[in-house]
Amino acid sequence: MTQKIHKRIVEQVLQSDRIIITAHKSPDGDSIGSSLALNRFIARLGKKATICHPDPVAPFLSPFMAPSDEFLNFEQQSEQVKTLMHEADLIFMLDYNAPDRLGAAMGKELEAAKAFKIMIDHHLHPTDVADIRISEPAVCSTAQLIFELIDGSGNIHLLDEQTGTPIYLGIMTDSGSFRFPSVQARTHEVLAHLLNAGVEHHLIHEEIYDSNTLDRLKLRGYITTENLVLYPEYRTAVMHVTETEKKRFNYRDGDTEGLVNVALSIRGVNRAAFFHEKDGVVKISFRSKGVGNAVNTIASDHFGGGGHANAAGGKSDLSLDETIAKFLKVLPAYL
Ligand code: 5GP
Ligand code: MN
Repeated sequence: MTQKIHKRIVEQVLQSDRIIITAHKSPDGDSIGSSLALNRFIARLGKKATICHPDPVAPFLSPFMAPSDEFLNFEQQSEQVKTLMHEADLIFMLDYNAPDRLGAAMGKELEAAKAFKIMIDHHLHPTDVADIRISEPAVCSTAQLIFELIDGSGNIHLLDEQTGTPIYLGIMTDSGSFRFPSVQARTHEVLAHLLNAGVEHHLIHEEIYDSNTLDRLKLRGYITTENLVLYPEYRTAVMHVTETEKKRFNYRDGDTEGLVNVALSIRGVNRAAFFHEKDGVVKISFRSKGVGNAVNTIASDHFGGGGHANAAGGKSDLSLDETIAKFLKVLPAYL
């Protein structure tokens, strides 16, 4: 069944000359990984695409870029991206379920674009904006879905180390290094294919997990020591960071990535929230353990966000203190 869709997608690529690959705002390993993997697969098919993301690549992910990956971002190159989106004949929507996940302005460009649109995603509640939609919330990462596209379209022979490495990156980062319930037997089969294609898994782990700067490590230690509050009655841990504290540790984008999981790792805690002052708003990351303990509902009901049951996010225009107070006020209704 899906094989048919995969073949149609490849046909569409082969028929197109101006191909754009988009992914959600605030890049993570899966949005970058799936974009790079698709870009390199398209190149292996003899076609060319341009990756257009809402924002620049976070420093911790830039080692995975190659000069051959043409990459533009809407934040710094909005006119160029607008023109490309306007002229595109095919736009991929990777790792997001709704245009506004590109940010309001770029989302409008996507909606206005006349291109054929293909969504490949694993978030709940996909919107109906694409001409072809692959939406698989049970799959751990969009990167795994890019592997399925390569395999299902009969092109596994095109899988090489360059294409496989970003797939591994996306699966690894979105599955918490292969530990979340979303990991399937199939995930490990896919990983085996990647290793057989020459992917050097240990280098990818090192690049992501053993690549702290001293500032980054100290910032994370500081937040964990000073800004972590446990609410045992709610089995919830709350962390935060202010702009001033970030400056003190020379914050760079991505420095607090995944830190919310440290709060979640406390024995007995099954819900964690991280409140992050960023660009004039408070960005919130929610994580939880176990089924029946969803956090995406809190995110969508109160913080204009959403996400997966156990990993969600949102934002708030209130001050940091007010945002945390609001969270603690609404939380009991979700326990
Ligand atoms: P993170 O905490 O890593 O920023 O985000 C975790 C997950 O929450 C993301 O994979 C995404 O599904 C979701 N998410 C984060 N921020 C937002 C947001 O502002 N809006 C929506 N709809 N989902 C978000
Ligand atoms: Mn993802």
